[in-house]
Amino acid sequence: MTDTIHIICPACQAKNRIPTAKLAAGPACGACKASLFPGAPFELDEARLNKHLKNDEVPFLVDFWAPWCGPCRTMAPMFADASRQMSPAVRFAKLDTEQHQSVGARFQIRGIPLIILFDKGREVARQTGVMNAGQIVSWVRQNVKG
Ligand code: ZN
Repeated sequence: MTDTIHIICPACQAKNRIPTAKLAAGPACGACKASLFPGAPFELDEARLNKHLKNDEVPFLVDFWAPWCGPCRTMAPMFADASRQMSPAVRFAKLDTEQHQSVGARFQIRGIPLIILFDKGREVARQTGVMNAGQIVSWVRQNVKG
């Protein structure tokens, strides 16, 4: 365990370095003062996704969804609920695969909703299909190394 970790701000994309002891206090971004752990999923595009994958040192869960996908809309509030439960240990984000189609190809996405768990830029696990908040939380816990 290192004493500080790097985290990208979900609001302005600035790179922050945070003492691990301060994570639970809900630190704010040094550049824009937004919360680094809003406790709610934040929106990504491909450039932002790349930046998080390159720099984030907190496990990162991405919901790949699309506006036309009914099951995705069903899962959205449950994903947000799981996000509140797991902050700040895991950060949650969403990526619209219709708007950002190159991402779908890159991650070989065949069905949505799909969640992919990343840790230090590497894909750790993925799961397709609707899950409720409790299922998301236990699935993440199974896949995040203590
Ligand atoms: Zn910021």
